[in-house]
Amino acid sequence: MEPTTDLATCLLCGAGASPALNLPRFAGASCQACAQRVGHLLVQEPTLLTDIWPLLADDAELEEPEPTVQRADGKTVELRQVIAEMKRELSVEDRMKLAEMYGEIGLIREQLEECGRVLVAAPAAALAQRALDVLFSAELCSPRGIEELRGRLFPA
Ligand SMILES: [Zn+2]
Repeated sequence: MEPTTDLATCLLCGAGASPALNLPRFAGASCQACAQRVGHLLVQEPTLLTDIWPLLADDAELEEPEPTVQRADGKTVELRQVIAEMKRELSVEDRMKLAEMYGEIGLIREQLEECGRVLVAAPAAALAQRALDVLFSAELCSPRGIEELRGRLFPA
């Protein structure tokens, strides 16, 4: 879906959203500030969001010991750490491509977290929309996700 310039109400904060980003699962809009808030939540506490994105609980690989690699200086580090450092060099657009690739190979937890990082970077609306299209797809987002998210972002 394309972000729209029509004035819409953000389903999360209730303010006017312009540009309005689409939340496909909920046939409504989000403002850019709320999209970034969602990104921060995903990056900071993904394990607390499993009632919104059940596949964030997909921790099969956490049971395996994390592979390690040896750096040029002889230090042994976790592969995860090396990948995180490499990703830092990527543009936001490349991170979004990476998120889409994660989806194609079935690494959904990584895909969701990568979309969160894209949103944290507050990219242009078209790029934020690509992340939201993944996060708020009917396949990945719980039908009650929007109420849960609203409660997390704006506790009463
Ligand atoms: Zn909002």
